[in-house]
Amino acid sequence: CEISNLPKEVYQHLACYVPKIYCLGPNLNPQNEDLLAPLLLQSPLEWYLCGEEPSVGLAKLEQNNQPSQLCGHVFKVGEPTYSCRYSCAADPTCVLCMQCFLGSVHKEHRYRMTTSGGGGFCDCGDTEAWKKGPYCQKHEPNISDSSQKDPLANLSDEMIARTYNVFSIILKYAVDMLTWEKEDELPEGLEPPARGDTYYCMLFNDEVHTYEQVIYTLQKAVNCTQKEAVSFATTVDRDGRKSVRFGDFQFCEQAKSVIVRNTSRQTKPLRVQVMHSSVVAHQCFALKALTWLGQIIRYSDALRRILCQVGLQRGPEGENSSLVDTLMLCDSKMWKGARNVYHQLFMSSLLMDTKYKKLFAIQFAKNYERLQSDYVKDDHDREFSVTDLSVQMFTVPSLARMLITEENLMTTIIRTFMDHLRHRDLHGHFQFERYTAQQAFKFRRVQSLIGDLKYVLISRPTEWTDQLREKYLEGFSAFLELLKCMQGMDPVVRQVGQHIEMEPEWEAAFTLQMKLTHIISMMQEWCSSDERVLIEAYKKCLSALTHCHSGFTDGEQPITLSMCGHSVDTIRYCVSQEKVSIHLPLSRLLAGLHALLSKTEVAYRFPELLPLSELSPPMLIEHPLRCLVLCAQVHAGMWRRNGFSLVNQIYYYHNVKCRVEMFDKDLSMLQAGASMMDPNHFLMIMLSRFELYHIFSSADCRKRYNRENANKDVVQQNNTLIEEMLHLVIMIVGERYTAGVGQVECFDEIRREIVHQLCIRPMAHSELVKALPENENKETGMERVIDSVALFKKPGVTGKGLYKLRPESAKMFNLYFHHYSRADQSKAEEAQRKIKRQNGEDSVLPPPVLPRFCPLFASLVNILQCDVLLGILGAVLQWAMEPSGGHWSESMLQRVLHLIGMGLVEEQQHLLSSAEDNDTNFNFTLKISRPGEAPANTPSILALLETLQNAPHLEVHKDMIRWILKVKLIQISLQSHLDSSGHSQEEVSIGSTVRDKDKAERKRKAEMARLRREKIMAQMSEMQRHFINENKELFQQSLEELDPSTSSTLEHSPSSCDSTLFCVGPRRWRAGGSDRRQVVTCILCQEEQEIRIDGKAMVLAAFVQRSTVMSKNRKRPPHNPDKYDPLFMHPDLSFGTHTGSCGHIMHSHCWQRYFEAVQAKEQRRQQRLRVHTSYDVENGEFLCPLCECLSNTVIPLLPLTKTSCSSEQPDLSQWLNITSLQMKALLSAHRKAKAADADGVDDMDGVNDCPPPDGFKLDYTPKNPYSSTIKEMLTTFGTATYKVGLKVHPNEQDPRVPIMCWGSCAYTIQSIERLLVDEEKPLFGSLPCRQDDCLSSLTRFGSACWTVSSHATVQNHFIRLLAALVPDPRVENTPCILDIDMFHLLVSLVLSHPAVFSLDSSGLSADTAQLYFLHLVTVAHIVQILLSSVPGESLILPLHKLHVCFSGLREVDSGWHLWCCVKAGILPYLRAAALFFHYLNGAPAPPELHTLGVGEWEALCGYLCLPSNLLQLFYNNRELMEPVVHCSRSSSVHYSTISYFRFPRESNHLIELPGDYSALINQASSFTCPKSGGDKSRAPTLCLVCGAMLCSQSYCCQSELEGVDVGACTAHTFACGAGVGIFLRVRESQVLFLAGKTKGCFYAPPYLDDYGETDQGLRRGNPLHLCQERYRKIQKLWRQHSITEEIGHAQEANQTLVGIDWQHL
Ligand SMILES: [Zn+2]
Ligand SMILES: [Zn+2]
Ligand SMILES: [Zn+2]
Ligand SMILES: [Zn+2]
Ligand SMILES: [Zn+2]
Ligand SMILES: [Zn+2]
Ligand SMILES: [Zn+2]
Repeated sequence: CEISNLPKEVYQHLACYVPKIYCLGPNLNPQNEDLLAPLLLQSPLEWYLCGEEPSVGLAKLEQNNQPSQLCGHVFKVGEPTYSCRYSCAADPTCVLCMQCFLGSVHKEHRYRMTTSGGGGFCDCGDTEAWKKGPYCQKHEPNISDSSQKDPLANLSDEMIARTYNVFSIILKYAVDMLTWEKEDELPEGLEPPARGDTYYCMLFNDEVHTYEQVIYTLQKAVNCTQKEAVSFATTVDRDGRKSVRFGDFQFCEQAKSVIVRNTSRQTKPLRVQVMHSSVVAHQCFALKALTWLGQIIRYSDALRRILCQVGLQRGPEGENSSLVDTLMLCDSKMWKGARNVYHQLFMSSLLMDTKYKKLFAIQFAKNYERLQSDYVKDDHDREFSVTDLSVQMFTVPSLARMLITEENLMTTIIRTFMDHLRHRDLHGHFQFERYTAQQAFKFRRVQSLIGDLKYVLISRPTEWTDQLREKYLEGFSAFLELLKCMQGMDPVVRQVGQHIEMEPEWEAAFTLQMKLTHIISMMQEWCSSDERVLIEAYKKCLSALTHCHSGFTDGEQPITLSMCGHSVDTIRYCVSQEKVSIHLPLSRLLAGLHALLSKTEVAYRFPELLPLSELSPPMLIEHPLRCLVLCAQVHAGMWRRNGFSLVNQIYYYHNVKCRVEMFDKDLSMLQAGASMMDPNHFLMIMLSRFELYHIFSSADCRKRYNRENANKDVVQQNNTLIEEMLHLVIMIVGERYTAGVGQVECFDEIRREIVHQLCIRPMAHSELVKALPENENKETGMERVIDSVALFKKPGVTGKGLYKLRPESAKMFNLYFHHYSRADQSKAEEAQRKIKRQNGEDSVLPPPVLPRFCPLFASLVNILQCDVLLGILGAVLQWAMEPSGGHWSESMLQRVLHLIGMGLVEEQQHLLSSAEDNDTNFNFTLKISRPGEAPANTPSILALLETLQNAPHLEVHKDMIRWILKVKLIQISLQSHLDSSGHSQEEVSIGSTVRDKDKAERKRKAEMARLRREKIMAQMSEMQRHFINENKELFQQSLEELDPSTSSTLEHSPSSCDSTLFCVGPRRWRAGGSDRRQVVTCILCQEEQEIRIDGKAMVLAAFVQRSTVMSKNRKRPPHNPDKYDPLFMHPDLSFGTHTGSCGHIMHSHCWQRYFEAVQAKEQRRQQRLRVHTSYDVENGEFLCPLCECLSNTVIPLLPLTKTSCSSEQPDLSQWLNITSLQMKALLSAHRKAKAADADGVDDMDGVNDCPPPDGFKLDYTPKNPYSSTIKEMLTTFGTATYKVGLKVHPNEQDPRVPIMCWGSCAYTIQSIERLLVDEEKPLFGSLPCRQDDCLSSLTRFGSACWTVSSHATVQNHFIRLLAALVPDPRVENTPCILDIDMFHLLVSLVLSHPAVFSLDSSGLSADTAQLYFLHLVTVAHIVQILLSSVPGESLILPLHKLHVCFSGLREVDSGWHLWCCVKAGILPYLRAAALFFHYLNGAPAPPELHTLGVGEWEALCGYLCLPSNLLQLFYNNRELMEPVVHCSRSSSVHYSTISYFRFPRESNHLIELPGDYSALINQASSFTCPKSGGDKSRAPTLCLVCGAMLCSQSYCCQSELEGVDVGACTAHTFACGAGVGIFLRVRESQVLFLAGKTKGCFYAPPYLDDYGETDQGLRRGNPLHLCQERYRKIQKLWRQHSITEEIGHAQEANQTLVGIDWQHL
């Protein structure tokens, strides 16, 4: 076809087919569209493009392509990104994708890992982004090919022409459609051939309405279910729009009006459009077309370049009319989904092509102002705005510089920013105080402009051109205009009389200040890199400041101050009466530049170029001084009525986020000003601003205590002001760690900050980072110096790694460090004194030796020796003479002494260096030895100190005074020494002399310390007594354990005749008559109580929970609670019931009273506050009154049952015969009763009347031996176990109650047996007291619970249980032994037997029965093990092998191997059985079982009265065992199901986690929501039990559980953990514990960074590594069923956890 007609033809094609394929039904993106579209629409384009079969053509293109070395991988949401923290990257926004990072050199560097918010791409291969290591292995360029070749060179001319044609048409079409605003018409040439009345009601996203509002409205408007509404809302939120109704115009219009009406009440309504289906169809296809373009250009860099060219080609409308411009300028009108698609295309085309990136950047800069204005008006987040692409261009140094010089970008950004902040006061200042919500919203959006400015400035130029200088200074001027609007904004006036009515808004102003902090610092750094720029900037800044304050004396009276023979002219101004502002960015910028003049030495080299003569020091210091005085007055309580707003401002003024460009610079400015003034003048002005001049200027100021006594508050206020003023003097003279002020490097400054932080206490890495200011790279510079001043201590299983100050660094300590708050200061002082005392040193904290000032600031030292200061010092010392004056304070005196100390140290430094530096004119000793000026003959400072040295009321200051006097002596000797010898003597230092100290003093202190210790000991023992009284029962127990007459001795000298201990069988150990008398104390009423069958019931607080901890089959669906028969536990242990206890004992009636009180309180509270608690009273939960452990029932304590050794007992076969007769009789009796019950007719068919054997009384009803309260508690605990274990409503009549109790007993013992193995602890003796108590009550309860159930029911259970071992044809539903957990069977048999045994009076012993049950079950278990370990073989062969093995024919080693299998398989069962009988019968365990190691097998078998060759059991009773062996034959069907697990069952553990956390992040980033088709999940969460990844905390994956909507995690816990869950929230790096639907807490993750800290929320981004110990700790919590308890404790400790909607996670 002809080229000229191509556009028209393509349009015709599209007009015809697009509406036929797209948007034919209510659903916008059905699958058939995706299938048809490529076929009909894309493939013709590809054919045309390639001129041949597309797959062939594209492959050729790809082959010829020489790809650029840029990785350009676009980040998905949540994907890990890496940045290097060495100085390899050009700026902190440079990031690598995981693959590139792993192949780069930076892997070996210190790096930061973050998760991407989506958007942005990998900078690998961009040589401008990296100073070092720009390529990973994969993107390393091939040196042979020239990299700068034009990619188009590889393409034929026709190909270029065709591509150009296709791209122009398609891109134009897409742009037209996406920016199309008409709802019912199409652009020319696209009108469909046939037009139906089909419309969409399209709902658009906004950020104003909440999810809930949208869902509610939709349900009303379009009559959908809640689920559909949720799905609509989710899509609207994700894609930016969604059709909610399809149909004729009327139908859609109606829905629209309902939506608009419903959402317009408070806010602007939701945006809804009724659009014709053909319009929507073309828009859908336009998006597909853009995606197609993005895909096709991947084949070749040449195609990409052509697309760039097409996009940026200027359109017919002239400037800014290219397709790219059109898209950008319509950005804020498009919906989210469209924006995303074209932003992606920009990133993969324009930003990946070096040539066009530059051209695009220019267009972007040209449109900058318009784009930003659109963005500010829009309400979508910045990540959905095209302005967000700025980071991709502005951070490229060459582009940034080009945009500054050619597009004047700096000025544009600043001007645009100022244009949006039009709200000013009369003086042109910003007025944030009175911001409305709307203005505040706008202000938030405008802040992103500051971010752009930061990008532009982030890399400093290494070379300056004249053009760059010109444009930078132009930008700097614009910036000064901005600062002018801030200088003096939001001023405050002290409120007197009334409290302010409304707290003024202050945050906006500080937000601006904080955002600008880095910019201001970077501006200074740019200036410092070029002398000419620095000089010009200084001039501009000075003139801006002068302009601001030209009239600073306006309306203020000039006055003259005089003191100590000096006088100065100034103005009358009171901070406490007039307006004062905390915002002085111009002054502070000038202060910074002033220090730079000194640092760069420009001040010394080009003084003639600088306007130094124009400087007016009083003007410079005036406003910073006012600001500092304001802080002092706030401290002194003078501004209380101004409310919290001011307090907060003062806080941020000093805070690490602001102080660099606020407080620090004010101090610098005072230093700069003072260095240019007479120190006396400076101090007088300072006194005047502090409103203290009148105190010190009067002639008799030294007698203050006599004159001024009127108002105590005023005195107190003035005292604080004097303290603050002295502190300020200390700082002005002593703060020399700013480069340019003192002779230091910037590392010295950081080092000093760290030292002072660590002087307070040892700190974790993150705490230190928080305390240090960050630079624009988010680095503090700490890493380079930390090791030189601190030692690192690794963390244990809890806590953090800590840095501790090296002892030698403590000498830098300055008590008046300017960044200490008052609290920090006193903590540091205490800590440092303590350390000194511990080292046996004098605890004095003298001022440290300081670095020297730079020449520009050198004159500051003279403040120390000027007359006014000495006058002030003398006055304070004189006041201190009076012990109870009240007109001076300890802190005041301490500061004065510190200042004197500083003078002496300074003098010493001068003396020591005077050899090289001759113009020392510093003679402090002389000055303080002279008598005071006026009135004449007042004592000298030295004389005052000597007097004060002996004043009894100044005890605390004596060491400092002594130190001063001593140093003074050294000084004098040093001076005379110098005078005579003429050179310094280094070895005389202050430290060594001071260390030689007063011995008597030390002795006195030691004595004081001893007395203090004794006092503390006395207090401790008092507390102990108190505690014992309160916890008698605990001590009772521990005393009992120590008492030789009770249990422990019995264990070693058993009362039974032979020396072997048996826990079961007729020969078992028995407690003597009077021992085992157990007396306990109730924790509630403190009364003692003996545990007796007929006594008051005592109970243990207990917590029953369902458990899957030991499950070997998490896929088994939960049982139906109403129909489930729990009599036989399946060996996969998939669901169990666990009982735990804190071990605290109460009377049952005391507990009942307590629980009723808790219930009543809870009801009242819920009505009033509607808040939840950590426990659910309605479910029977409560907290143990003593330890607050979560509990949901109580277990009664029972005494050991009394049994006696009986006569001769039958052997197993006889016993079995008797038992089987008994069972027959019982069974027929039961059937008879049942049949009689059923219809009353005597229908005895099939029920043989079996007479009972001798001594078996069928009609006998044994008397319940227990007291009524015990019976009641037996029912209580039984019902609770039943209710929780089966998740049913309580029903004490249910036949399953006793079964659940036996099951819980068995399961709990089994889980504890596992725990002991996993913890590598011996079977006996290592359990904590509480578990010991719990297990013994649980087993004894188990053997008693039948008494409160229907006897017939329990007997029936017994019959069924026994039939599993001894087949009985009359019993139905007997499972195969392969499907029975044998330990559960054993426990149930033993515990149900009493119900049958109670009918027996034939002289059989219950102990015998227990032993035979053990034998039978053990044999069955052996069979089970053999079957499962030798699958496929019949049982005869393995048994034969074993037999052969034991008959001494050793050569059959497979038999030996088999025996090992059996032993290993049965061991857990035997251990559990030993625990069970131990607790049931109270038999002490043999010592071998109290230790780990060899001999366990024999000891176990011995204790359990079993032969250690277990096969003997089998062969001794061969014929009896046959049926057990054979029963398995019939059930070979089960082989397949059972063969997947073997005995012993291995302990479950939590899933393996990767060592490096980023592997998890990567895994999570590729995880998509399973419900909403391929969407990224926002909160991917990993189940640590089974390893499932879930889409948590999101509407998409909510499901219904028991009638409530729950999130994915909660739903999963019910399937995987029977209600308990342990998760890792991957994005947050946080462990989540969940229990039930309402309980949860967060727990520290098992991942630590190199500094031994966790990073919850992944904020710091340090690489994280798995800490096995911590993970094991979590695993242990899980294995011991303590998760719920842990949640309870966490919620009690932190009430905010209770309010979290855990069920939606
Ligand atoms: Zn990459
Ligand atoms: Zn790479
Ligand atoms: Zn690096
Ligand atoms: Zn009590
Ligand atoms: Zn307790
Ligand atoms: Zn989901
Ligand atoms: Zn799971």
